[in-house]
Amino acid sequence: MRVLVLSDIHANLTALNAVLADAGNFDEVWCLGDVIGYGPDPNDVIERLRELPNLNCILGNHDVAALGMMNLAVFNPEARKSLLWQAKSVSDANLNFLQNLPQNGMVRGDVTMAHGSPRDPVWEYILNTLVARLNFEEFATSYCFVGHSHIQCMFKLDMRRDRISLDVLKPNHVHKLTPRAILNPGSVGQPRDRDPRSAYAIFDPDEQTWEPRRVEYDIESVQKRIREAGLPEKHALRLSEGW
Ligand code: ZN
Repeated sequence: MRVLVLSDIHANLTALNAVLADAGNFDEVWCLGDVIGYGPDPNDVIERLRELPNLNCILGNHDVAALGMMNLAVFNPEARKSLLWQAKSVSDANLNFLQNLPQNGMVRGDVTMAHGSPRDPVWEYILNTLVARLNFEEFATSYCFVGHSHIQCMFKLDMRRDRISLDVLKPNHVHKLTPRAILNPGSVGQPRDRDPRSAYAIFDPDEQTWEPRRVEYDIESVQKRIREAGLPEKHALRLSEGW
């Protein structure tokens, strides 16, 4: 079975389309949240997602905020401006779709999914081995998939030596997994690891493999739409730098 693992699409339809064209066949789609926020295409992205087969999707902090379920004061001014624009732009049908998604993560087979972390599914960033260690105690499955940091990486727990490593796996290669690990597919729509290519992963639960992937997309066309919509210039610039 091939599972397409997506996260942090952030209303970037061009990046999502590039990923879908690159991914080949897949049986299920697991989406780790932040479907909207930052980018110019919230409605198109939600509609494209809704068409995908066997979609399992959870909410991220930007989705929760756009639904009006969170005080926007916690976001920086540019992110807040973009969220207000998105909240205004998203159609009722698409808002309704988001409203029905879970925000506390979910379990599929031997995988726990959370936007931020299993300990704090909406907000916590897992950026170092210390925070990863605390979170290994918060899920019971072999693997946990998270997004939120926009960094494609793996935290691996060596149970025999009780050590945690942070690994950046070579993209576009298939890696064999062994329990236990916290895996981040990276961000489809706004990568922040200085590689501007769109990031995602293919997970095979039968073979226990993980293939982190990167694919180029037409960044300039997204930057143009961000500017046309009057969204913050910073959100256009960062796409070509990958931060
Ligand atoms: Zn995000």
